Amino acid sequence: MSETAVSCDDLTKHYQMGEVTVRALRGATFEVPAGSLVVLLGPSGSGKTTLLNLIGGLDTPTDGRVFVDHQEVSKLVEPELTEYRRKKVGFIFQFFNLVPTLTAQENVGLIGELAGNADEAADLLERVGLGERLDYYPAELSGGEQQRVAIARALIKRPYLLLGDEPTGNLDYETGLLVLQLIRDISDESDLTVLMVTHNAAIGQMADIVISLRSGHVEDIEENESPIPPSELRW
Ligand code: ADP
Ligand code: MG
Repeated sequence: MSETAVSCDDLTKHYQMGEVTVRALRGATFEVPAGSLVVLLGPSGSGKTTLLNLIGGLDTPTDGRVFVDHQEVSKLVEPELTEYRRKKVGFIFQFFNLVPTLTAQENVGLIGELAGNADEAADLLERVGLGERLDYYPAELSGGEQQRVAIARALIKRPYLLLGDEPTGNLDYETGLLVLQLIRDISDESDLTVLMVTHNAAIGQMADIVISLRSGHVEDIEENESPIPPSELRW
């Protein structure tokens, strides 16, 4: 039996918009085994980003609990919440969020400094296939290359969790597949637990576990006995 990395118990998030209550997440309950690659799948507005942000400590729940590595994230308050995000969670986003005035190596090294391993930036960029691009600025890199820098930046913290919100949503099909292959390889070669949000059902086929969301509910949880290599995904 594998260790449980993430555990959500009746996790609920409401947003108050004036007089309207938006029920973004309506009681999500599930467990994620350590080391697995999980896809959170659902249409736009189904609560994927809300759920990922609660797990990553970017937002706090209205009700329910979330545990990561046996720590109850849902009861953390600042500054512990920031500490949790900084130490435990690597994030990758749809729009890369690199610092435009820093080179690839500086973008990764900046986060590495917080963890005391900034000197690993070049090796990590090599690992994601950018060994020849260390001194390039984000504007000099393609979208796929920028996302690789963002992945290296997430990994330099040696996080417990890698969270991706539509990480290929802004990439063309071929480039997207290469980034998905990199994410699959990282999952296979490390103990990292990876949670990736997407609205694309085809991407679910590369995951070990697919958690389907609809209107803020967990609709289905499916285990893939034999995940499909990203290079074979079609949509
Ligand atoms: P998804 O990522 O699946 O597209 P979200 O988690 O972003 O879905 O959003 C779920 C629902 O919650 C949507 O109806 C969205 O409009 C609403 N929502 C998300 N964030 C906020 C917010 N900060 N304030 C108000 N409503 C929000
Ligand atoms: Mg979203």
